[in-house]
This record gives sequence, structure tokens and C-alpha cells, in this order.
Amino acid sequence: MPADARLYAYSAVLMGSPILLKLAEHDEKLAGDVFRLIRQQENLFTVNRAGSQLMAVNAAAGSHPVAVSAPVFALIKRAREVSLLAGSCFNFAIGPLVKRWKIGFQGDSVPPAHELQALLALTDPARVQLDEQQQTVFLPQPGMEIDLGAIAKGYIADVVRDFLHQRGCFCGLINLGGNLQTLDAPAGETAWAIGVQLPFGEPGALIGSVAVSNKSVVTSGVYERYFELNGRLYHHILNPQTGYPLDNELLGVTVISDRSLDGDIFTTLLYGLGVEQSLVFLKDYPQIEAIFVTREQQVVLATQQPFRLLDERWRIIDSTV
Ligand code: AMP
Ligand code: MG
Repeated sequence: MPADARLYAYSAVLMGSPILLKLAEHDEKLAGDVFRLIRQQENLFTVNRAGSQLMAVNAAAGSHPVAVSAPVFALIKRAREVSLLAGSCFNFAIGPLVKRWKIGFQGDSVPPAHELQALLALTDPARVQLDEQQQTVFLPQPGMEIDLGAIAKGYIADVVRDFLHQRGCFCGLINLGGNLQTLDAPAGETAWAIGVQLPFGEPGALIGSVAVSNKSVVTSGVYERYFELNGRLYHHILNPQTGYPLDNELLGVTVISDRSLDGDIFTTLLYGLGVEQSLVFLKDYPQIEAIFVTREQQVVLATQQPFRLLDERWRIIDSTV
């Protein structure tokens, strides 16, 4: 991207992911404040470290409700609603299964079927009790666990965008390990070219790029976190009905939306639906656009944003025409 020459990049590793901030002006102080903000937000939502509000909720499962701060309550409430949508593969109570599989972490293995069955019984999102008045969350059975891993980064990307705007910064982008939120494009450009990764390719290898500004671009892919055993690939997006990784024609879904939280929610939702059902589903959500990458080397476009193919082995199918 030629415009990059006029941009300042700042990077860190937070939440176990590489974080990249691009600004039009050199501002170490602002970058430092952004990374501090991300760390502070992560401390609210992580389930991998003691001390977060979410960990307190999980630790009190089967025992008592836990009061959480307004933003944490709001995010949990939204996650519960989305989990209860008809046909939703998004399930914020999937924690016990995620913890057991440990996909992408040391000790990952295929759990025996009877264990998955037992854990599935602990993942009913409807059983999570929210008390609006008290701002409390209660998991009624020991072993239940909320996991916001599918949406925390999207939420935080929006918080960062709002923070940059408050600080008078309107040109730039934040990439939270694949959850991208863009502000205005650099001077002289009309849009950012955001890469869509080549599944299982070298780092940086792209199928193509999509041109956006002031929009979020979020990707979920089977290639992001997985392990292989006996020739089978086990990836990190689980089917809440079976307890096994979701299995369909998709290698990845990229969602383009105003809010990165929506992008993060919809990548998981659409992943579970597969291409055909997603295209029907999206008719009810005109503000959400998507790009599907399939095992058949197809790139199915359901977006108005310009897409540029960079790898000729892939075939574009434009669902909007
Ligand atoms: P993402 O990186 O946004 O695709 O989210 C993947 C993460 O979401 C996983 O690492 C799990 O922590 C969590 N997760 C896995 N399966 C589901 C699911 N079906 N619903 C909600 N969260 C999930
Ligand atoms: Mg997600």
C-alpha cells in the first residue's frame, strides 16, 4: 500500500495476539495510551487469567450471582441475546467445551465423546441469569462458564476507535489480531486496502483485499487456531450442538460492518450457517456485509465494498449481482 509510507505503525502483543496501530501522525503518547486502554479492557473480559470480572462470574458458578460493571453487563447481555437467536451457532456459554478442547494451546486433544456430551449439558445459554436491576450475572450450575473470546476483540476495537476520535485522531486503523477497525483513509487515499488472508498460506499471503474506510473488517477462519490429529483438522470454532468443531464448506468468513462488535458476532454466526443460509440471513441485516472463503477455492462476495483478487487460483462469485 503506497500510503503506508506516510503512516506510523505501533505494535504490541496483547491478549495473545499481535496488535497493530497505524496513525497518520507520529504520536508515541497516543499509541501508549491506546495499548494501555486495550490491556485495561482485556482485564475485564479475559477467561485465561484470574482477576477479571468474567472470571469472577465463572468462579461463582452454582454458588451466587456476581455484580459486574455496566460495559461488561451490556456485552454479556448482547452475547446472551445472540446466543438465543434461532439457529445460532454462537453460544457464549460454550466455555466448558472451549476449556476442554484447549485448541491452539498446549495440551490440546480430541476429548472422548462421552465427555463432550457431559460438557454440552453445561452450555445452555438460556440458563445464564442476568439481573438488570442489580447488574449481576449468575451461572446456576457448577462448571458452567461464559466465554467471550468470540466477541471481546470486536468490542475492544470499537472502544479504541471511540477513544481515538475523542482524542481528535480521525485517520488510522487498529488491528487486534485480525479484528480490524478503520478510521479515515490516509491523506490522498479514498480507502484502506484490507487483506483477506490466504488460508494456511505464509504469513502475509493474501487471496485479495477489500477497500474500506470508517468500517470494521473482522475475519474468523479455521486456519487461525487449530491442531491436526490422524489427518484431521480440529479448529477453534465449535458447534454448540455437537461439541465438535463446526464442519462445513467454509475456510473463513470476513464481515464488514460499522461496528467491530457486530463483525465479531456475525463472523461466528455466519460461519455456523454456511454460505447459502448466510446469504438468506443477511437479507435481514443490510448493514452487515460479508466475504466467504470456501474449500472449493471460491470467494463469495456479499459486499458493496470493492474487492480486488490477488491470487488467481481463486474464483470470485458475486452474490450481489
Ligand atoms: P473468533 O476468534 O472471533 O473467531 O472467536 C473464536 C473464539 O470464540 C474461540 O477461541 C472460543 O474462545 C470462542 N468460541 C468457540 N466456538 C464458539 C461458539 N460456537 N460460540 C461462541 N464462541 C465460541
Ligand atoms: Mg468472532
